[in-house]
Amino acid sequence: MDIKFIKSENLKTKPDQNALGFGKYFSDYMFVCEWDEGQGWHDARIQPYAPIMLNPASMVLHYAQETFEGMKAYKSPKNEILLFRPEMNARRMANSNERLCMAIFPEADFVQAVEELVKVEADWIPTAEGTSLYIRPFMFATEASVGVHPSKKYTFVIVCSPVGAYYPEGVNPVKIYVEEEYVRAVRGGTGFTKCGGNYAGSVAAQAKAEKLGYTQVLWLDGVERKYVEEVGTMNVMFKINNEIYTAPIEGTVLPGVTRDSIIALLKSWGYTVHETHLAIDDLMAAGDKGELEEAFGTGTAAVISPIGELNYRGHIVTINDFKTGELTQKLYDTLTGIQWGKVEDPFNWVRVVK
Ligand SMILES: *Cc1c(COP(=O)(O)O)cnc(C)c1O
Repeated sequence: MDIKFIKSENLKTKPDQNALGFGKYFSDYMFVCEWDEGQGWHDARIQPYAPIMLNPASMVLHYAQETFEGMKAYKSPKNEILLFRPEMNARRMANSNERLCMAIFPEADFVQAVEELVKVEADWIPTAEGTSLYIRPFMFATEASVGVHPSKKYTFVIVCSPVGAYYPEGVNPVKIYVEEEYVRAVRGGTGFTKCGGNYAGSVAAQAKAEKLGYTQVLWLDGVERKYVEEVGTMNVMFKINNEIYTAPIEGTVLPGVTRDSIIALLKSWGYTVHETHLAIDDLMAAGDKGELEEAFGTGTAAVISPIGELNYRGHIVTINDFKTGELTQKLYDTLTGIQWGKVEDPFNWVRVVK
């Protein structure tokens, strides 16, 4: 793919690396490419970051044909630019787009676009402890039509945002509300895709949990509301009697890159990992008996988020005295060590951008 470069005439002042927060600042450039039926992808370019003009009838604004990805670039101690398993994001976006009947951006071009953009924005990759450059690829339907059908035009964009340590005070457990009223996904739906619509449908549960004093919800399966699936916008894992349990990838759960990496690490350390349906009743019973040793969410943004408390129908289970578990901490340290190029990468997950 040929990518044209359009130079910016005024570069921004970079924010303070110690007060980045998450997703508040955006870099100087963005990647843009358009697709038209009959023509395919065209006009790939890296151009100054700027607002996008849309026809009010653009289909994304009405019927939500929109998908996205989330990944990070890191600066290694040797000052190299590192990406973490970017080909998995490229593949997942293709899968999401296929489900939503959207044009597919070729996987090799996806990785190339991310690499060229982070090279242009190398100075935007923060270097303070725990920071990284969050990369947000996304695609949306731009055909001007209010008839319901797959759009005949799409725009693919990648923007970058320098982000701080997700936990400025270190990794700390959060309180989780087990959600029974709202559901996130059902088999046959879009739960396995990263699409904006999934998030729009989950905001009500998030708002409810926050009102009740909880950080996130634990989603149960959408049919029986009996089996645990995900926590907020993360995959979720439980350590019970020294074995690990997480929901299987069967169409309702997002196939997380972090989830996949954590499972590989756990198996390499000799742990048994059950990718299986775990009933909420069995989980709470394990908590009551003291067999639920650790619990944590996994995702690119936070990497690992320990769970200190579960509330299911007013029944409260506290996990590991509301402290980060030993295995949770070891997983966090190992995975972030690999991502930041500080420890050996036995799985060849890290890609050095040349
Ligand atoms: C993005 C996401 C995850 C985590 O995926 P990663 O590839 O690990 O970042 C988990 N669940 C949902 C619903 C997500 O959108």
